[in-house]
Amino acid sequence: MKNLADLKALLSSPKKVAIVTHFKPDADALGSSLGLAGFLKKKGHRVDVITPSDYPEFLAWMPGSEAVISLSKKSKEPEQKSAALFSEADIIFCLDFSSLNRINELGDMVRNSAAVKVMIDHHLEPEHFADYEKWDVNDASTAQLVYDFIVSLDGKQLIDASTANCLYAGLMTDTGGFRHNNTTSREFKVAEELTLLGANPSEVARLVYDVNSLGRLRLTGYVLNHKLTVLPEYRTAYMTLSQDELGKFNVQTGDTEGLVNYGLSIKDVQLSVLMYDRGEEIKISFRSLGTFSVNELARAHFEGGGHRNASGGSSKLSLDQTLEKFLKVLPFYKEKLINNS
Ligand code: 5GP
Ligand code: MN
Repeated sequence: MKNLADLKALLSSPKKVAIVTHFKPDADALGSSLGLAGFLKKKGHRVDVITPSDYPEFLAWMPGSEAVISLSKKSKEPEQKSAALFSEADIIFCLDFSSLNRINELGDMVRNSAAVKVMIDHHLEPEHFADYEKWDVNDASTAQLVYDFIVSLDGKQLIDASTANCLYAGLMTDTGGFRHNNTTSREFKVAEELTLLGANPSEVARLVYDVNSLGRLRLTGYVLNHKLTVLPEYRTAYMTLSQDELGKFNVQTGDTEGLVNYGLSIKDVQLSVLMYDRGEEIKISFRSLGTFSVNELARAHFEGGGHRNASGGSSKLSLDQTLEKFLKVLPFYKEKLINNS
């Protein structure tokens, strides 16, 4: 592994940079990518941001989002463009993921590119595919790692309000609005720094949390009313959503974000699970409290991972079969769940 400080020399003259983040990017993924892009552009580099899929509409306010190259089932053009950009790039930044399977078909393009690869991330059990790594599982967000990285390049004065807002959005959402147990004085320190550089906390919170479509709000009501099941003997709550149900509420990318947290807000529940049918696969979100590791659960049974208390996974089974599998696996975790604190 090379010393991150050497990147400073590499970035001291104009380079072609590609930034890529994970499938179905959340605010930390897109915010850290666009924040880094804003900074690098100001430094005189040519920068393109690439995502393996579309991103939620409630992140479209982020400056630079309009120029993001997002892969799509409707057209081969973004994929071809991405392939060209990765092969031309001098440097590829991989943000908010640390295993190449999280960027699907882009994984091989990154792997095979001759570019210098930099991974900046905070997920558990990284794959070491990059030349440079800035990885810290103790940091709540990739956005704050990007902030540190910019500071380490003596670039703080190039962080403008747009960049600060993008990074602040990542920090705010990955801490659940500074409420999750990954929120420490460090996160507040970076939030303060970003605010001093022009981030607008109330505006970012409004844009991310309070610009719901009516469909999304009604979906929340439906799920809470009809789809939330609690298994007190396992201190577990779960919800499932079929393609029909998603269609009925005209659910768009990102609309299911946050639903899984409602399960965890029930007194005594220690594990909450949301499963929904994306068509090509079942996507699963896991959240837990305390020492119960959903990273372990997702890795062991659902080809996923993430953080100890927030992980994701997927399944190629049907929705019903995926639920069945989860309910079969659950008894093996009963003791841990009962004793969890
Ligand atoms: P969410 O449930 O909000 O999609 O994801 C929770 C956390 O787990 C996020 O940090 C996300 O990046 C990670 N994550 C989500 N899906 C997957 C997955 O399929 N594999 C891995 N390794 N991590 C995931
Ligand atoms: Mn993140």
